Amino acid sequence: MVATPILTIVVPCYNEEEVLPETVFRLSGVLDALIADELIASSSTMLLVDDGSKDATWALIERFHEANTFVTGLKLAKNAGHQSALLAGLMKAKAYSDCVVSIDADLQDDTDAIREFIVKFHEGYDIVYGVRQDRSADTFFKRATAQGFYKLMTSLGVKIHYNHADFRLMSKRTLDNLEKFQEVNLFLRGMVPLLGFPSTQVYYDRKERFAGESKYPLRKMLAFAFDGITSFSVTPIRFVTLMGFLLFLLSVCAGIYAIVGKLVGANVTGWTSLIVSVWFIGGVQLLALGLIGEYIGKIYKEVKQRPLFVIEKDLTAHATAQSELT
Ligand code: UDP
Ligand code: MG
Repeated sequence: MVATPILTIVVPCYNEEEVLPETVFRLSGVLDALIADELIASSSTMLLVDDGSKDATWALIERFHEANTFVTGLKLAKNAGHQSALLAGLMKAKAYSDCVVSIDADLQDDTDAIREFIVKFHEGYDIVYGVRQDRSADTFFKRATAQGFYKLMTSLGVKIHYNHADFRLMSKRTLDNLEKFQEVNLFLRGMVPLLGFPSTQVYYDRKERFAGESKYPLRKMLAFAFDGITSFSVTPIRFVTLMGFLLFLLSVCAGIYAIVGKLVGANVTGWTSLIVSVWFIGGVQLLALGLIGEYIGKIYKEVKQRPLFVIEKDLTAHATAQSELT
């Protein structure tokens, strides 16, 4: 254990010009205070990852980098999505940090909790999960869908932390092992618990977005949830198999019923039931095919192993040099 670890706070930013000045201000305050209390090394920094923003986000990052020694930056060539932008930052930061904290740019997560993360890191934990204990700032709809999602994931046997998103601390060795995953379909909050390193939780209150709008509209949120499920569980496919088996049993029963009816002379009138069952089975088959196709699509993406992000500009040279000195 390093006495005063080098911390890097990684912040994915997509069109965040409205919040960024405040975010940088608050995170600088956090770093300042932690350095003053000798909880982290003086070469600790924050890494702002511009995920192909269309507004002035990158211009701001460059400006802050000039004026504030805590600020480093990474510019992705195009929008890669939250998870990939986060991974880009994590993998960059781990080269020169002892621990890394990931946090969203919008200040919904409590920056003061970072101190508790660091205290836990000093106690020997490799992973510290930030858990939202109060989500009243989120809309009812967001809370309800999120809760349904956590329940579904747990019932499918996926180990994820309830009410934890991507606000967490990870040690260097955690990140070194995370790098080995090489997954294209990224769902970091499901991958980190798989590592099995000593972990703990810190509770905080979730706030409203400081400024700007959510970059996760319903469509993206649903796609993310669906990706999470199909990247981590094959239970849906098993369910399809089970459904096929049940339908088969049902058709055997119906067959016996029809044959016995014929033998005893009862009239089997069945056009309606015939049509209904043909449509029903047709529908179920298409659904099953679609679901299997979803998994095949995932395999297709994985085997290509395309890079998840392309780094266009890198403002971390100073942080890297600093860590080599210490
Ligand atoms: N984000 C990103 N790339 C994207 C979408 C979002 O880097 O394509 C960042 C965004 O700037 C923010 C974080 O991911 O820092 C979470 O996004 P947001 O706060 O909009 O999501 P919500 O909290 O509404 O789920
Ligand atoms: Mg947010």
